[in-house]
Amino acid sequence: MLLLEERYLQKNGQGASIETPDQLFRRVARHISSVENKKKDHWENCFYNLMAKMEFLPNSPTLMNAGLPKGQLSACFVLPINDSLDDIFTTLKNAALVHQSGGGTGYNFSRIRPKNDTISTSGGKSSGPIAFMKVYDAATEHVKQGGKRRGANMGILNVDHPDIAQFVIAKLDGNSLQNFNISVGITDHFMKAMINTEKWELINPRTGQSERTIEAKELWDSLIHAAWKTGDPGLIFLDTINAHNPLFRQGRIQSTNPCGEVPLFDYESCNLGSINLAKIVGLGSKPSNINWDKLKLLVQMGIRFLDNVIQCNHYLLPEVAEMALKNRKIGLGVMGWAELLIQLEIPYASKEAVQLAEKLMRFIQETSFNASCNIAKEKGCYPAWEESIHYPNLHLRNATCNSIAPTGSISIIANTSYSIEPLYALAFKRTGVLGTKTQQVLHPIVKDKLTQLGHWNNAIQDQILETGSIREVESIPDHIKKLFETSLEIPWKYHLEHQRAFQKYTDNAVSKTINLPSSTSASDISEIYRTAWEFGLKGITIYRDGSKANQVLQKCGAI
Ligand code: ADP
Repeated sequence: MLLLEERYLQKNGQGASIETPDQLFRRVARHISSVENKKKDHWENCFYNLMAKMEFLPNSPTLMNAGLPKGQLSACFVLPINDSLDDIFTTLKNAALVHQSGGGTGYNFSRIRPKNDTISTSGGKSSGPIAFMKVYDAATEHVKQGGKRRGANMGILNVDHPDIAQFVIAKLDGNSLQNFNISVGITDHFMKAMINTEKWELINPRTGQSERTIEAKELWDSLIHAAWKTGDPGLIFLDTINAHNPLFRQGRIQSTNPCGEVPLFDYESCNLGSINLAKIVGLGSKPSNINWDKLKLLVQMGIRFLDNVIQCNHYLLPEVAEMALKNRKIGLGVMGWAELLIQLEIPYASKEAVQLAEKLMRFIQETSFNASCNIAKEKGCYPAWEESIHYPNLHLRNATCNSIAPTGSISIIANTSYSIEPLYALAFKRTGVLGTKTQQVLHPIVKDKLTQLGHWNNAIQDQILETGSIREVESIPDHIKKLFETSLEIPWKYHLEHQRAFQKYTDNAVSKTINLPSSTSASDISEIYRTAWEFGLKGITIYRDGSKANQVLQKCGAI
């Protein structure tokens, strides 16, 4: 509740909270149900209960701003970057407004002409996309979202842009672009050229002409080295994204939001929400029992909640309002996956877990589409429906329904594990987002489950607090240790298998970090990136332990 207190509850001029968590959930529920024509009170109570019981939470801006004057409720935006100073600085201003309201922004910088290209108006030389990204980075640094959190950006450059070689190493100095996740926009064509060690053409976006030819494998190796060193760049697989673009008649998607879970057109936004899977274990049942009826209900209400957000949102820009109301994209996802697995006594690194991931997400997707369809019957299909792949058979209220977001803040509020990630550590020091407070935290599920299994005492607690793991606790049998394997102990293949299982039934995308021990080699990373493409993932992000100076999460004993 510390996080709610610090960042979500409304404050007075002196910084004291003027609402309780209960009042916050009531404020949000009332606002989100205000757009219902019938049974407003019923929906208000449903939404309130969802949040108060921590069974579902919407993304942070909705929790913070719903019910406040001019409350901006969306987490994710993509804004256009065109090759003119006017457009670049218009979008910069718009991005600042989005950040101030708690949203994050993604952009593809590939339309900007390369560095040292000609500028006809001044006769000078152009600065290139990386220089403009640095301008965006500096601006982000100074818009601190009312002291609550730093803004987040995704910066993409396509693999055929002439400045791509500089882009892939743009964060190597450990200093630049710290407010950006950077990703290379990869095509299938490039992956084949890289695998076959062929040449690769770089195209000037201003002229559409080939500027020079490089070795695809050399670019890949440089990219991999940078990712090994710093975690950046990640990849986004543009062809995979566009093969599944339900609105391909509106054009080709070029970008995602900051953490990658929502591919969006320019000026599109998305509202996210996540179901807490730790809450769906059947009462008094055998461990293998999931309460599917409860999950169904949570999905139905989650979809209705997020669809309402589109209606009662305050839009900062008319272009964003137009796109949001036309396509009505939402992203219902999950958090607490690792915790659910522990409750069910299924190790994360197991086939059984991956199969359950598919079964679960398939159920969530089917239920989401049915729910969206039922809302469409009541309130109408999304306006762009007739130009979508859903037309004419699938009447939907929303062009997309599901995303797996990182749930970086809301899973802390719900006191469960992040998104579909394994536990990062069984005990860890958590530094607040603004670097203020550090807490030593033991993951609650650890004590509960070990107690239930008859393996809890003070000595075990001390050992876990010290090392963040139960690997070294001799009295605990191996099959129980396996249940508590942490992110860095889980082989990367299983990280990817989970991402693939969830992606298979997610119409938007899955945000997942493939956490790796510091001993991971560059060639492992090359294999991971390539496997991600072969698996049909929409993007890939890795993080090698210790490769960034300021990790938000750190294992106990690792500091
Ligand atoms: P939360 O748990 O706060 O709801 P997530 O960690 O699930 O958020 O992130 C969801 C999306 O919210 C991100 O992909 C990004 O678009 C946006 N977002 C996350 N953190 C920030 C931030 N610090 N500033 C701006 N936007 C953010």
